[in-house]
Amino acid sequence: MAIQAHIENRARTQPQAQTAATMSSPAAQPVLSGSIMLLLDDMANAELLSENLQAIGYRNMVLATEPATARQLLLNERPDLLLLDADLPGEGGFALLSWMRSDKSLKDTPVIMLADANAPNAVDLKLRALELEASDCLSKPVDARELALRMRNSLALARAARRSRADEQDGLTGLTNRQRFNTVLEWALTYAKRMSIVGAVLQIGVDRLGQVNEALGPSVGDRLLQAVAQRLMECVRETDMISGADGPLNDDAGASLSRIGGDEFSVLLPVIQRADQAAMVAIRIRNAMATPFQVAGNTLIVTCCIGISVFPADGTSRDLVLGNAGVAMAHAKQLGRDRHEFYSKEMNDRSRARLSLERDLRLALDQNEFSLVYQAKVGVKAGHMAGAEALLRWRHPERGMIGPVEFIPIAEEIDLITPLGEWVLRSACQQIHTWQTAGIPVPRISVNVSAQQMHQPGFEKSIRRILDEWHIAGSSITLELTESALMRDPDRTVKILNVLRESGVGISIDDFGTGYSSLAYLRRFPLDELKIDRSFLMESSEESAAIASAIIALGHSLRLKVVAEGVEHEHQLDFLRAKNCDEYQGYLFSKPIPAHAFEVLMRTRSKF
Ligand code: C2E
Ligand code: CA
Ligand code: CA
Repeated sequence: MAIQAHIENRARTQPQAQTAATMSSPAAQPVLSGSIMLLLDDMANAELLSENLQAIGYRNMVLATEPATARQLLLNERPDLLLLDADLPGEGGFALLSWMRSDKSLKDTPVIMLADANAPNAVDLKLRALELEASDCLSKPVDARELALRMRNSLALARAARRSRADEQDGLTGLTNRQRFNTVLEWALTYAKRMSIVGAVLQIGVDRLGQVNEALGPSVGDRLLQAVAQRLMECVRETDMISGADGPLNDDAGASLSRIGGDEFSVLLPVIQRADQAAMVAIRIRNAMATPFQVAGNTLIVTCCIGISVFPADGTSRDLVLGNAGVAMAHAKQLGRDRHEFYSKEMNDRSRARLSLERDLRLALDQNEFSLVYQAKVGVKAGHMAGAEALLRWRHPERGMIGPVEFIPIAEEIDLITPLGEWVLRSACQQIHTWQTAGIPVPRISVNVSAQQMHQPGFEKSIRRILDEWHIAGSSITLELTESALMRDPDRTVKILNVLRESGVGISIDDFGTGYSSLAYLRRFPLDELKIDRSFLMESSEESAAIASAIIALGHSLRLKVVAEGVEHEHQLDFLRAKNCDEYQGYLFSKPIPAHAFEVLMRTRSKF
């Protein structure tokens, strides 16, 4: 049962007896501010201690004995200080303290722990209390003067901490304010300079907040700003970044969000890889605003304009970076509502180009803009066509043919790679089917698979399904996977590859030599083929030649067929012949060509 008592401004009484938590008679004191909560294992002790505290001058007191009910009481009363008995019934004082430290509203409340000095583990108890961020720990029975001193000290420290937090906090939204943003930005700039990293500041202006204030009154405007702040916060958190309120750039160098003016917010992204990541955050913020706000019975539609400045490119000093973000925001506002702009024109152009490519790419599958070209794989000794690699092409309605190096990474980023990869395999199978029904002997066709696609759940099944759709035997195709795809989760990879291997699908390791492979795993993977990355043949250095021959030897020792890529010159082929490389691919024999042209090549050069 909950036992609690509020004692406020009660007449000062003298303690009658010395118990575990009482103290010697203090001298009369002036009234002291600060509400104190006492949570002791025994109400009689609590009352006694409370009377002692009143004697010192504390007037505002809450008493409790049970941790379970104390929780609610703490949340309701928010005392300025808690005197907490370590030996409480049930969950005990430590569990309560650790709960408080995880609660947003109580994590900073000073707690003085009272532990039994005669307990055999008294030192451990004290250490544990301090580890759980108790402000102090005292031995029972408590000495009055000592407790008074420690309480005063804890309260003063808490007040100072609160004051400095308040100085850096925006009263309306609870976000950090401009002053704090400036400090964090200074740190970020220093850090960025030292570590040669790129970061960005987004200045966010809420569009037409003035109209809301005018039409519905400033209190609705204020509540709207609070709701906007909340949504921005979620957005910034979603970016896997948290508010910078907790320290220098946070532990993980995450983003920080501040309210820097009436209707303006700033986001600091202390580390970005590319400028357009800042644009992605801006887009996320704009999307988050798209859902109307419900404030005081009004449905309010809010948009914002965002200016982005990137450091060090747009400036290395705080004023310049902030100023340029402001200029960019003003520019965005000039152009209309719900926009974002970079400060630098070049970044704007690049970001816009990338965004429009992204948008077009999302449509390209439906609009049938992809096609496959085929590049022959040729036997080094006999010169026969041993196979072919299907390579993806995108015919952009305005820009013409775009190569996969440009769009595959984007497709991966926007989660388009799996449907696109399935499209590639399906088209290749369809083509094989067409050729086979026409009586053309088709060599094994290799298809590239991106790491992301391979690690999708159900990958093996989707391959099987597509082969079945076109009645294609697994042995008609080879999948090309890069080292990094294979090594991402090698144990799982082994399982996937074994399933594929069972249905006859060949497995090739692409671009070998550019990633990091564990040789132990290479032996465990059921591989058929190893492709030497073309950089080793393109560079005509002794070193590259040595690597190429080492790869050929390694491949053969693992009983793999070795294929060289990017063979453009006769002397490269001579080298491969001398090293016993099995097959090659390259412009020397044929560039990647469309299916109909490849068909002609097959008819004339096939011998397999
Ligand atoms: P990759 O798998 O290493 O493909 C070989 C690339 O080398 C192809 O570039 C090919 O056109 C080019 N190449 C072939 N012979 C020569 C040569 O003699 N000299 C030179 N300089 N280059 C040569 P492409 O078609 O631009 O493809 C680039 C990369 O894009 C591919 O590298 C592959 O990683 C990826 N890719 C292509 N198609 C697909 C696909 O369907 N799915 C996935 N996930 N990736 C693909
Ligand atoms: Ca390839
Ligand atoms: Ca390759």
